[in-house]
Amino acid sequence: MKPLEGKVALVTGASRGIGRAIALRFASEGARICVNYSQSMNSAEVVVKEIEDSGGEAIARKANVANYNEVADMVAIIVKKFGTIHILVNNAGMSIPGDLLSMNEAQLLEMFRVNVLGTINCSKVAARQMVDQRYGKIVNIGSIAGIGTNFPGTTPYASTKASILVLTKRFALELGPSGVNVNSILPGFIETEMNTRGKTKEEWSNKTKEMSEKAMLRRIGQPQDIANAAVFLASDEASFITGQSLVIDGGRLDFLSHSG
Ligand code: NAP
Repeated sequence: MKPLEGKVALVTGASRGIGRAIALRFASEGARICVNYSQSMNSAEVVVKEIEDSGGEAIARKANVANYNEVADMVAIIVKKFGTIHILVNNAGMSIPGDLLSMNEAQLLEMFRVNVLGTINCSKVAARQMVDQRYGKIVNIGSIAGIGTNFPGTTPYASTKASILVLTKRFALELGPSGVNVNSILPGFIETEMNTRGKTKEEWSNKTKEMSEKAMLRRIGQPQDIANAAVFLASDEASFITGQSLVIDGGRLDFLSHSG
């Protein structure tokens, strides 16, 4: 039997990048999927079509994760269509550069709304269903930025991702007695639009080289690297793991701490 056979999963921000890879992988492992997006409808529908073409079942649903009512409507539609929700991946996120001295309050609040409030909204609504059925898996996508990297221009983003670490532990503490596992994945530098946007081919090639040199494995990550771990954490293979954060960065954080 496939590890996610018969399961229903909501993957937020699944129209591209890491979320897309997770949605496709979960579907190939037997789950029925809600592909959430906030703006990129066409891309989300392409993901649904890819899943259907491979024999899976999926719907695309627009909802700004920062808007509680939109999230509640989305989960209600999932439950109506698929009967329940077993797995939530809080992946939707954004990154706006900034440092302490240049930090823009409106941008900081917008990032908190999407990265932190979005995670809270989706978890709150999905957890009600999970607690009732005494089964659920929540996987939060944090970042190694939340632990501490020296990457310039990521101070406001890092503060939102640091919140994911503590929320993962608090949600795990609150929901554990009801049979709900909550864990997070902390990706390193991954090849997605979040990082490629606005760069020429040459700039991206230089960035790839620069970031590869920072990791023990001497490469940057691919969305699939994150999807591989997400399947494990969302499956019953990980049923005794909760409140944990798994770093997937090719050995970048440890490389930093070993540097001269
Ligand atoms: P991406 O390529 O920019 O994709 C972001 C996704 O989130 C898109 O599907 C986007 O869809 C969706 N989204 C954005 N705001 C949303 C909102 N308010 N409501 C619902 N969906 C929303 O980014 P990515 O690199 O795949 O990042 C995915 C997650 O991994 C994020 O949480 C990010 O912080 C984290 N992460 C990424 C890296 C990396 O190096 N790429 C490293 C560490 C952590 P729409 O266009 O429809 O809004």
